[in-house]
Amino acid sequence: MSVRNIIIIGSGPAGYTAAIYTARANLNPLLFEGYLSGGQLMNTTEVENFPGYPKGITGPEMMMQFKEQAARFNTEFLAQNCDAVDFTKRPFKIMAAQKEYLAKAVIIATGATAQYLGLPSEQRLIGKGVSGCATCDGAFFKGEKVAVIGGGDSAIEEALFLTRFASEVVLIHRRDALRASKIMQDRVLNHAKIKVYWNTVVTECMGDTRLEKLKLKNTKTNQEQQEPFGGMFLGIGHTPTTEIFKGHLELDHKGYIVTKGKTTHTSVAGVFACGDVQDSVYRQAVTAAGSGCAAAIDAERWLEGQ
Ligand code: NAP
Repeated sequence: MSVRNIIIIGSGPAGYTAAIYTARANLNPLLFEGYLSGGQLMNTTEVENFPGYPKGITGPEMMMQFKEQAARFNTEFLAQNCDAVDFTKRPFKIMAAQKEYLAKAVIIATGATAQYLGLPSEQRLIGKGVSGCATCDGAFFKGEKVAVIGGGDSAIEEALFLTRFASEVVLIHRRDALRASKIMQDRVLNHAKIKVYWNTVVTECMGDTRLEKLKLKNTKTNQEQQEPFGGMFLGIGHTPTTEIFKGHLELDHKGYIVTKGKTTHTSVAGVFACGDVQDSVYRQAVTAAGSGCAAAIDAERWLEGQ
């Protein structure tokens, strides 16, 4: 079986950038895109903060362009999910769709996904009023009253975005202080369409075929109330996609891959990580792309030293 120089797992801005760089270094990378390529940006509408697109661009369009650029320099793509890895010896082994792939170096760029509260009633109503992505689903809630859960930058960004469609937005936060940056706090607290319910948690999502009401509990008084809502959006953080790496690489307490210092080196020499799978702080397309470039350079230098 042939041994590839580099296998890249993941097809967001980090994975595609790593592919562009390693392909241009003549390393002929193989990139596992997953069944759904493009990562989280496929769920966004307009991207206005990626330098080089002064008029903005949609997330899916931008990912198509990233892929096109990676293809131009001979990246090979496979639209498959990786099911398992073996990093105990070299060449590294990656299993996908019951086939085995071997590589001298691996770059992981599997990203992260939105977190949910974990209530059974919430799970039942996902796609029926409950959503993990305001930018994807917000437009379906024209004229409705919607709730956004969380007190960080993501929740506030979602709340502000939803004011374009909803008649009223209620930010529901479990504490009495927001975690978000000051500028974002000011925007949400001064917005005519946004109300904040402090010290409040959702205990049940109610409705048969669609979300109709939320059962809310005040954490200070323990008082419960039901209130009509047409939509509920989660903004409570993300979970890194690291299930298949558990036990193979060092992960932090939240499951993010640990990288060494300012580099993209993981706990296994020859395995590198970039993008949201190792970054719970910045989580931006441009920072993910930047770390994809760093991973490619780290991998290239490491291979050269072997
Ligand atoms: P975050 O900062 O970790 O905030 C998560 C929020 O959700 C917190 O307010 C947390 O409450 C709440 N929460 C978590 N689990 C909960 C649960 N089970 N029930 C109810 N509430 C829950 O996550 P994030 O907002 O996704 O941001 C992550 C990082 O990306 C941050 O560094 C952020 O600055 C950055 N970011 C930046 C931008 C931007 O600059 N435009 C946009 C988005 C994200 P507690 O406060 O009580 O812990």
